[in-house]
Amino acid sequence: MSRLGRHTERHLVARIGWLRAAVLGANDGIVSTASLIVGVAAAPGARPSEVLLAGAAGLVAGAMSMAAGEYVSVSSQSDTETADLTRERRELATDQTAEHAELAGIYRARGLDAATAAEVARQLMASYALGAHARDELGISEITTARPIQAALTSAATFSAGAAAPLLLTAFTPASLLAPAVSVGSLAFLAVLGAIGARAGGAGVWKAAARVTFWGALAMAATAGIGRLVGAVV
Ligand SMILES: [Zn+2]
Repeated sequence: MSRLGRHTERHLVARIGWLRAAVLGANDGIVSTASLIVGVAAAPGARPSEVLLAGAAGLVAGAMSMAAGEYVSVSSQSDTETADLTRERRELATDQTAEHAELAGIYRARGLDAATAAEVARQLMASYALGAHARDELGISEITTARPIQAALTSAATFSAGAAAPLLLTAFTPASLLAPAVSVGSLAFLAVLGAIGARAGGAGVWKAAARVTFWGALAMAATAGIGRLVGAVV
């Protein structure tokens, strides 16, 4: 493979990382807020002000829950990575020979012959031993290094951006058209978002758009059904 080819490929992977997270966050925001709005609007006698209030509360609740969940998950990943690196650093300081054998064993398992594997391990450890062990033994690279606060803020922001779409539709649609306008409008947003994500990641656009639209429609149909049932009782 040419240098240029490898370069582009690496960029694509890096871009998918944050873009995927952003698209997923916005997706969550649209699906959960639109479903909430459609569910409350489906209840007989629901007032538009109540629907809007439910949607606004849903945006804040969802954004906070995404941030908290992301912070906890990424923090625990970060703790694990730190502990792994500390142990690795200690092992490298105390037993170079065993660590060299370990790394060479990894390269042999990937298909290098014994002499080449030993030489590759020797050269990599000579330049940056911890980096080589982190990458090839623990699977920790700079790209996957966890950043909890950044992840939490990104999740909350992308969720809110997605949730704002059905909320704005609710605010500017006449009460009689609320449920159809919010569901159709939100499905359109989902389809566009799915297509953008697929496009940037080099994947099939139609399939991705159909996938998110299907799950979005299912979610809204479920909450609309529940809203109608429970709304008729309470
Ligand atoms: Zn090691």
